[in-house]
Amino acid sequence: MTTAIPTPPAPEPGCIFCKIVAGEIPAYKLYEDEHALAFLDVGPLSRGHSLVIPKAHYTTLDQMPDGLVGACASLLPRLGKAVVAATGAPGWNVLQNNGPIAGQVVMHMHFHIIPRNEGDSLGYRWSAGKLDSQDAQTLLNDITSRLN
Ligand code: AMP
Ligand code: ZN
Repeated sequence: MTTAIPTPPAPEPGCIFCKIVAGEIPAYKLYEDEHALAFLDVGPLSRGHSLVIPKAHYTTLDQMPDGLVGACASLLPRLGKAVVAATGAPGWNVLQNNGPIAGQVVMHMHFHIIPRNEGDSLGYRWSAGKLDSQDAQTLLNDITSRLN
């Protein structure tokens, strides 16, 4: 079932991705439809690094209507497959940053498609903790009560 996509917000003045959508600045466009656009990242972490964005300006994933998330995210398998086939990369990451603390620099929601190659040194180190069972119960209550 397709979720309806409400009327989009206006383009954000000064937003570089809104300018790409409007055709005001160039981009190497890979794919375009009514709701989404995919193009090559100009500062690639690896060859073929690409971005998928909604045409409408939303800052972060959690602000987007579900239907629009679906319209963007459903492109990832197809684009990822084409990117790795074109570049020969044996693997790829999807990255999506929300907020400056999470590494977001361009404040227009985007998914990264990042081809991965042997010895590319793109790995990151998470220092994993251990889930405390009491806190897990608190989290269960606090998160599930907010799922609306
Ligand atoms: P993030 O850190 O998740 O906000 O990533 C922003 C990404 O946008 C970076 O990988 C940039 O290289 C990329 N980027 C910024 N400006 C442009 C542009 N004009 N065309 C294509 N990619 C861009
Ligand atoms: Zn924008």
